[in-house]
Amino acid sequence: MSTDLNSPGSSPAPLEEFLRDYVETTGGVWDEVEPQVYDLMLPGVAGAGEPEMVRLVFDPEAIPEHPGAQLASYGTPLIDRLLTDAVNRGRHLEVYRIGLNLSPQGVEDRLRRTAILPPGYTLKIERARPMHFPQAVFWFEATFVSDQKEQDLLTVAIDVHHGRQVRHLEELLDRAHMGERPWTPLADAPHPGLVTAYPVARDRVVRTLSALANTYHRELHERLDRQLERIDRYYADLRAEVEEQAKKAKGRGEDDAKFAARIEGLEREEQLRAGELRRKGQLKVHLRLLNLLVIHQPKLLLNTAVVASTTGSTIGRLEWVYDPLVEAVEAAVCPECRHPTFEFAVTRQGRLVCPACASVADAPTRPTRR
Ligand SMILES: [Zn+2]
Repeated sequence: MSTDLNSPGSSPAPLEEFLRDYVETTGGVWDEVEPQVYDLMLPGVAGAGEPEMVRLVFDPEAIPEHPGAQLASYGTPLIDRLLTDAVNRGRHLEVYRIGLNLSPQGVEDRLRRTAILPPGYTLKIERARPMHFPQAVFWFEATFVSDQKEQDLLTVAIDVHHGRQVRHLEELLDRAHMGERPWTPLADAPHPGLVTAYPVARDRVVRTLSALANTYHRELHERLDRQLERIDRYYADLRAEVEEQAKKAKGRGEDDAKFAARIEGLEREEQLRAGELRRKGQLKVHLRLLNLLVIHQPKLLLNTAVVASTTGSTIGRLEWVYDPLVEAVEAAVCPECRHPTFEFAVTRQGRLVCPACASVADAPTRPTRR
């Protein structure tokens, strides 16, 4: 136990404790050179880059003995950076969706009923593989600032594999079926990385946000108009009163100059207050990402062949995903335009594409007019 006078208790101060925890959690190393003096090795940014070596001193009086050391206290750039990083780490959580049936009955039948192929073709599942599909759930905080401040929480979930919005949020976020570990270890389905989901989520949120902002804006202006009307009435009454006094004064043969000055003053005051109100009538919207939850959800990746019924020959291959959570087949991707589609056509050249791409490919070329 420490008997050092500078640290009378046996446990270190909260900031010191945070620092040790932080360094250990992030994969760095700390060494207490002497009481309240630490040598730290911080891992590089995002796991890449060179590790950073820092000597930190908790006691300002010890600074002269350790040239080149940094003082550890709240508000210093280094401690601020570490605290922010720690908060950000806490905002990102990964869990597994458990309790799903990964060998459901009749998936091929269901797929055949869902997919629309031209007559004379059928689908055959060549391989069905359960895999983990990351579902990224973003929580955004929108703040509307005008004459008052209001906040909204917006949630968007994106299937990272397809880059599509997940509509069944409630089923996805079922707390009773989330675990820190999966029931069965599964490989990750191919996906373009979590970073690609963020712009999709943001785009969806901005759309919702502009609808919300319109509502706030309308309410704000109704409020503002009512207030402007009240101000207008208030000053009109005041002016009328002063004019009445001026008339009486004039009748008594008094000088009415001071009344004119008072009316002028009232007009200036009214303009000032109305201007102030109109400035508050501007609506500002701030959007920030609060939390990110990644749910690794098992789904079946179905590799299928499109087969001509008469000859039995394969004319193309399609990849489908079966989601056991909602017991449905997700739209496949058109090999040509990459748009999601359930319906496929075969071009004259024998390519398997979506109906839109097929109509472009098979459009008769126009004769050039001379
Ligand atoms: Zn297409």
